[in-house]
Amino acid sequence: MKLLILDTPDEVTSWSAKYVVKRINEFKPGPGRYFVLGLPTGGTPLGMYRKLIELHKKGKVSFQYVATFNMDEYVDLPRDHCQSYHYFMFENFFKYIDINPKNVHILDGNAADLKLECSNYEEKIKEMGGIHLFIGGIGADGHIAFNEPGSSLVSRTRVKTLTDDTLEANARFFDNDITKVPREALTVGVGTVMDAREVMILITGPHKAFALYKAIEEGVNHMWTASAFQLHPNTLLVCDEDATMELRVKTVKYFKGLNHHKLIENDSNVSIRS
Ligand code: PGA
Repeated sequence: MKLLILDTPDEVTSWSAKYVVKRINEFKPGPGRYFVLGLPTGGTPLGMYRKLIELHKKGKVSFQYVATFNMDEYVDLPRDHCQSYHYFMFENFFKYIDINPKNVHILDGNAADLKLECSNYEEKIKEMGGIHLFIGGIGADGHIAFNEPGSSLVSRTRVKTLTDDTLEANARFFDNDITKVPREALTVGVGTVMDAREVMILITGPHKAFALYKAIEEGVNHMWTASAFQLHPNTLLVCDEDATMELRVKTVKYFKGLNHHKLIENDSNVSIRS
């Protein structure tokens, strides 16, 4: 597991966007050769999407041969509701890039048969050859996608009841009225994300510091589902200084000494300074 510690949330989103561009370009996507991305919603990745749009507009990356799978979606929220994840993804990202909407996959929380919707989603990921890079955020309770504390670490895409903590955290998007927050969601499982060839998780802010500590300094534990990535062969956590506040000084020094920020160097298209 790699941990890259940057100074600010802006640096986290900017660095991660450049990393995504580097990965897509290295892969050399083309007809019949899609780069498959797993994508999150939420406040943390928003800056990354903005930077990716900017890099796309500068001609540094094309999404023509990129396919995407989003992590989750609320149940029973109209697709065009301003808090649906469909709406979030199109309004904040997809409508500004050259992705073909037929290559965008987002779970349908209004499907007549939610179980079937979930198993079909897993099938579609398989048909695309699996996910090359799954990007995620984590909740303050350590959840990844909507895999709340106690979720099985081998779980697959399914319907999930949201915890009170998540309802409270998300009430800010629903007029601060917890009763308006959908109580169920469809989500990829921890196992679904673990199957990706590579996972990149963005963590910013002091409110995520305890979750980061649980994810990397303590053992694998289903009460902190993001800790599962300790068992993934290729996970990169990108965090800001504030998120390291619960880590041991020794841990922070160790990871800073590894200079993981250099992972986006040696790319003529995406200089770390651009
Ligand atoms: P956030 O959400 O990026 O809005 O903090 C992350 C999450 O809950 O997974």
